[in-house]
Amino acid sequence: MSIEALADYTTEQWNAVAASVMANIPPGLFINGKHVDALEGGRIASINPANGQVVAEVAAGSARDVDLAVASALKAFRAGDWSRMAPRDRMAVLYRWCELIDANAAELAMMDTLDMGKPIADMAGVDLPSVVQTIQFMAECVDKIEGSVTNTEWDVMHCVLREPLGVVGAISPWNYPLLMATWKVAPALAAGNTVVLKPAEQSPLSVLKLAELFVEAGGPPGVFNVVNGLGEVAGQALALHEDVAKITFTGSTAVGKLMLQYAGQSNMKKVSLECGGKSPQIFMADLEDMDRAVAAAYNGIYANMGEVCNAGSRLLVHESIHDDFVERFVAAGRDAYVPGDPMNPETNMGPLVTREDQQRVLSMIDAGAKEGARLAFGGCVPEGLDSGAYVSPTLFTGVNNDMSIARQEIFGPVASVMSFKTVEEAIGIANDTIYGLAAGIWTRDLNLAMRLVREVQAGTIWINSFDEGDMTQPFGGYKQSGHARDKCMESLLSYTQSKSAWFRLSGQR
Ligand code: NAD
Repeated sequence: MSIEALADYTTEQWNAVAASVMANIPPGLFINGKHVDALEGGRIASINPANGQVVAEVAAGSARDVDLAVASALKAFRAGDWSRMAPRDRMAVLYRWCELIDANAAELAMMDTLDMGKPIADMAGVDLPSVVQTIQFMAECVDKIEGSVTNTEWDVMHCVLREPLGVVGAISPWNYPLLMATWKVAPALAAGNTVVLKPAEQSPLSVLKLAELFVEAGGPPGVFNVVNGLGEVAGQALALHEDVAKITFTGSTAVGKLMLQYAGQSNMKKVSLECGGKSPQIFMADLEDMDRAVAAAYNGIYANMGEVCNAGSRLLVHESIHDDFVERFVAAGRDAYVPGDPMNPETNMGPLVTREDQQRVLSMIDAGAKEGARLAFGGCVPEGLDSGAYVSPTLFTGVNNDMSIARQEIFGPVASVMSFKTVEEAIGIANDTIYGLAAGIWTRDLNLAMRLVREVQAGTIWINSFDEGDMTQPFGGYKQSGHARDKCMESLLSYTQSKSAWFRLSGQR
């Protein structure tokens, strides 16, 4: 089996994979190279949001389990089997890990689809290939981490070494369960750290398999541990832990702020944050290809059910092309994503992650309508899909940037169109948000594009495209979207620290 082969799987084959996954659910924690149960109490139920059925119950770890996992990670770090392993050998383990992910692709894909309702076609076509690319890229970088020798006194040799940090605590969200975890875990491991991962409670399954495969690939036990559990219990215990050198977090801005507090209340651990977004796309009157721009607009908000941190949720359209833009969006975007069974390889839109999320998104849609935005389409539960947490692709027009739908991260398939007259007005609206994760700019005028790149406050700006990139691209936010950079060499280096070594020499003249 391989990721590539998944493209030919039928719904029947996927159903068989689902049955096998559900018959082999591990206890819920992976510590010191073994699947284990929690020391005490609680369970987390993973509910399939497509039909409300319980997929699995796994152990919910407590602070005691986090202590065990961190102790195991610290012991492994100090033992040096991983942290001091020759770079080429560490790379070989990471490459072997990729091969095993490929070989176990169907199972891994199914776990995320069952947990959070992501279309299985997206798992096969987007998430899994990106997971492997991430690990491969970080593996390629292992022996490119360099220190330096500085130019100083004749009788001195001064060099700067880059060293791993120790135990890294990773806390990940549910919207790309495997991929977001991998964006943290792969660079942390590649740099020689050991890891304790606390995944989101909505998606506890796939990372357990990921950790198991790491050990199968030759990763020493204790180097990569997973503690499932509630955020305010296991997540908090990890972020407050005195033996954790860094917390790397992806999730909401509200919880990201807690991470900074936890670091201050404990050992001043390093904190890196990837948080929410409310990304604008600016469509200028001179854009080259209206149909392409409109397609990027609806793909940018409806892909992954809109549960994307950098989703292009605010569409700022120049007044002279506004009506044409909206007309084409309605014509092409209304049916571009059809909610359906995520196990069907033809489906491109699944349910939202939970019933609560569905209700939250529907109530935000309600608020948008009450505040005076015009509902062009959607805004409801799609017909015949009441048994799942579905929301139809939705478009609002006549939105102004003070409305709640323009200010709050909806994290659902809801686009808001706003009209503007001048470039200055567009920049003002784009920047009038606490977030700054990403933006899109559509114009033929590259001088204007460059001005907008400089003036729009966002970590990633796409010009005449949206949501593209590869592993060389730093991904992260400005303002309250966080300050980390994932992917890229910069991410790998953020899991290291520099050490200055000053050799006073004699007999040099
Ligand atoms: P969330 O903040 O609710 O949860 C994220 C993680 O934090 C989960 O593992 C959760 O259990 C944990 N957590 C919750 N409370 C905690 C606490 N008190 N202490 C420690 N840990 C705690 O976010 P979510 O709903 O899982 O994910 C959606 C959010 O993630 C959105 O805001 C989205 O924009 C953001 N996100 C950002 C990026 C990015 O790269 N910037 C990528 C994906 C998702």
